[in-house]
Amino acid sequence: MGFIASAITNRIAEAAESYNLYNSLTENNAGLKTLLKISLDMPEVSTPIEFEAWPEYDDVYLVSGGMDSYIQWNMRGYRGDAVAIFVNYGQPYAQQERDFVKENFPGAMHHTNLLPHDPKETNHIIPFRNLYLLSVANQWVKDGGVIHIGAVAGESGEGGDKSDEFFKQFIEFIYKTEMKRINIFDMKTKTKNDWLRTYLEVKNDYNVLNTFSCFQPKEGLPCQHCKACLRKCIAMVYAGQEVKAHALYPDILKNKYMGEYYKAMSDALIKHDFSHYTQQRARQDTEVLDIIGTWK
Ligand SMILES: [Zn+2]
Repeated sequence: MGFIASAITNRIAEAAESYNLYNSLTENNAGLKTLLKISLDMPEVSTPIEFEAWPEYDDVYLVSGGMDSYIQWNMRGYRGDAVAIFVNYGQPYAQQERDFVKENFPGAMHHTNLLPHDPKETNHIIPFRNLYLLSVANQWVKDGGVIHIGAVAGESGEGGDKSDEFFKQFIEFIYKTEMKRINIFDMKTKTKNDWLRTYLEVKNDYNVLNTFSCFQPKEGLPCQHCKACLRKCIAMVYAGQEVKAHALYPDILKNKYMGEYYKAMSDALIKHDFSHYTQQRARQDTEVLDIIGTWK
């Protein structure tokens, strides 16, 4: 069954399709600029409307139930009011993510608005996801506030919706449309692996291993066979954890993406092509997979 989209997301999707936004977003940020240009091309200057009072926060954390946003939230400093927001945009694993957030992020808010996409076509790369998540977070952040998003080092090159350029364009867009100054803090000072290692050292909180990140959960548990399960387990091994001994991952060594993933990372190192993954991530992940290989 397809996802039901709101009128606005449908219009964005239509505009994006006609301008080939998705393809250009993955290459560079020309597509985003086009989208912003369309949005700003208003026939007349709008008159201010008085909205009902809406609570706004100094710090808004976008949380997914996965490891990265859990670490970001738990290592936060307290500047003022902070809130965690979970967004259900129709992801097939929303229920498990939501359950984890409910139990582990006190006072978290839940926001539901389904995005139009077909998971089969996009292979878990969801067009506009971060644009949409940032737009939701922006509704809750104060002028001068910060949106926190769990984008770690090694996941984006110069383009794409986790790139510095993308975040910069979004900040500018909010300033132009709302005269509101916001900032976006990500987690790009470390890879997923280094974050987990540091977090366990600093916080000694092993609940981080119970976070939920799986594309195809089976009866509410991680499938152990998808790319998300694999990446979490690589981080666990890197951080010195007995991954097979963990109740959630007894069969992780049978993960079917291991070979494909190893090839992608080692090819990047051999060809010195770090346009998709950084050198640091490729090195760390191949080292861990070499260790895992000796266990089989
Ligand atoms: Zn999985």
